Amino acid sequence: MSAQLLEGKSVALKIKEHIRLDAEALRQKLGRAPKLVSIQVGENPGSEVYIKSQEKNAKDLGIEFDLKKFDAATTQDELIKGIERLNCDKTASGIILQMPLPQHIDGKLISRYISPEKDVEAVHPQNMGEIVFGKARILPCTAASCMELLNSIQGLELYGKEAVIVGHSEIVGKPLALLLLNKFVTTTICHIATGQRGTLPEFVKKAEILIVAVGKAGIVKGDWIKEGAIVIDVGINRVEGKIVGDVEFDKAKEKASHITPVPGGVGPLTVAILMRNVIEAAKSQLLS
Ligand code: NAD
Repeated sequence: MSAQLLEGKSVALKIKEHIRLDAEALRQKLGRAPKLVSIQVGENPGSEVYIKSQEKNAKDLGIEFDLKKFDAATTQDELIKGIERLNCDKTASGIILQMPLPQHIDGKLISRYISPEKDVEAVHPQNMGEIVFGKARILPCTAASCMELLNSIQGLELYGKEAVIVGHSEIVGKPLALLLLNKFVTTTICHIATGQRGTLPEFVKKAEILIVAVGKAGIVKGDWIKEGAIVIDVGINRVEGKIVGDVEFDKAKEKASHITPVPGGVGPLTVAILMRNVIEAAKSQLLS
């Protein structure tokens, strides 16, 4: 059996259709387009690519885009003041802070200064906390992308399924575990200590839904995959000039029922979710 591919692009296209309509409706209500402000401190080739993709997607969807560049030597206090100015700026619907930040700036601390209403990456503790209660309007982009991929599988009933997440980061594994729990999925999270203990294969072998977000090429072996499992590979690794995931794709696809390609799986969806978050942020600001 060869698995069905879970491609992010087609799911992203459907989400973008809704965003375009919502952005236009907001433009008419507000008299201006909703706006995403991206903050970059210093230069970083990785974030340049992401910023370009944000700009292109925003413009395509009727969302204004503004890049606020801060010098690499900007102090933490200066950056906080810059964020506070944007929090008060009614034309800025959403704020995203590009990572990585220079070493002298504490990213986790800074994220707390973005107003929760404008925090389109859901990194503020208030937005994270809302996920616990199943009330979040703005979701972390990568975790939400994984949920969208699951939702795109026709006839899939999440209730009661057994999922294993490998990776417990704050942007992927932890929020995703809560999103799955909110759907009554029995959820296990594995992480570095699971790997060190040598029990990772045992957990993976039980997974009806497997989501891997580690950042180590081929860490999940193809023959660990349960027959008929749904496999979502979040990992992005460059190996000999090629981008590959964390799961041994060629072997895994022979056992899985559905599997994401890397690239082309989760990646194309995350920026669409980011744009959807800008729309959600603009809508909730209209109500407040
Ligand atoms: P992270 O470094 O913050 O977290 C890595 C996780 O892997 C940790 O929970 C760690 O405990 C776990 N881990 C490390 N070694 C392990 C081992 N041997 N066994 C089991 N678990 C182990 O990473 P992150 O920011 O969550 O990103 C993970 C991967 O996902 C990276 O490759 C990143 O590039 C990719 N990513 C992709 C997207 C996308 O849009 N496709 C978005 C975010 C992250």
